[in-house]
Amino acid sequence: MRLRIAPTIGAVALLAAACSGGGATPDLGIPSVVVTYPILGAVVADLVGDRAAVTILMGNGVDPHDWSPSAKDIERVEKADLVVANGLNLEEGLEKPLAEAEMRGVVVFRATDHVTVRQSGAEAGNGHEAGGDPHFWVDPLAMRDVVLALAPALGSVGIDVADRAPALGTSLADLDAATRATLAVVPEARRLLVTGHESMGYFANRYGFRLVGAVVPGLTSQGEVAAGQLADLRAAIEAEGVTVIFTEIGTPAAVVEAIGRETGAAVVELPSHTLPANGSYATFIGQIATAIATALR
Ligand SMILES: [Zn+2]
Repeated sequence: MRLRIAPTIGAVALLAAACSGGGATPDLGIPSVVVTYPILGAVVADLVGDRAAVTILMGNGVDPHDWSPSAKDIERVEKADLVVANGLNLEEGLEKPLAEAEMRGVVVFRATDHVTVRQSGAEAGNGHEAGGDPHFWVDPLAMRDVVLALAPALGSVGIDVADRAPALGTSLADLDAATRATLAVVPEARRLLVTGHESMGYFANRYGFRLVGAVVPGLTSQGEVAAGQLADLRAAIEAEGVTVIFTEIGTPAAVVEAIGRETGAAVVELPSHTLPANGSYATFIGQIATAIATALR
């Protein structure tokens, strides 16, 4: 539950009263928008301002690849005016409830229907199926595409943000420029990414990096790690002269530490799936860019 209410005792009492009627969404007289995960939720909250109550299903710091909805989450989806989901199987366990809610008239907006979807190619030949990459959120310009498509969808349920969307789009373009500037210190030859799983493809395409490999091959942190693939990854790290392995939420620590020891590569935490404490998408992107620039400069 994430509401923009001053944390006074009165507001808490109001919220408790609103929730006690069995409703998943407090009836504050404004429309309700449910967003599945915090990073996208931060941007949606920026877009709607005080014109809708935004509820985020996943807790911050939860691995979205390892999440399934509770009965309460499904109730929230059913009672929402509009649900913003990622799509491309990020919320696999929510697909059936989303389809059922849609049939009952809830508007479901899937963010990845509105971006140029990156296809994963790295899995070719290693037993993993290729597929559409859900991790568009690491690319501020893909996020801008989502914002500009979401505004009319919100309008369709009576949440008019037509005056707010262009400014947010501009700030996301500014964020892209700032990210590019932060990364300018990384020489061409060091623009190589080894990550926990294949999460940084949109970022790599946008900012001129190359994906060398991932500890857990594939588009989810929940894939299996086979010994042969780890041997291939070690060989690629050594052949390409990779000096840093970026570990992420859901990356098996013992495996990444072992690869680091064997190859001499440093292991650096990449906050690619978690919103920073200040709840800001700009800070989220800034922390990723800074972590990469600092490690690879
Ligand atoms: Zn991921």
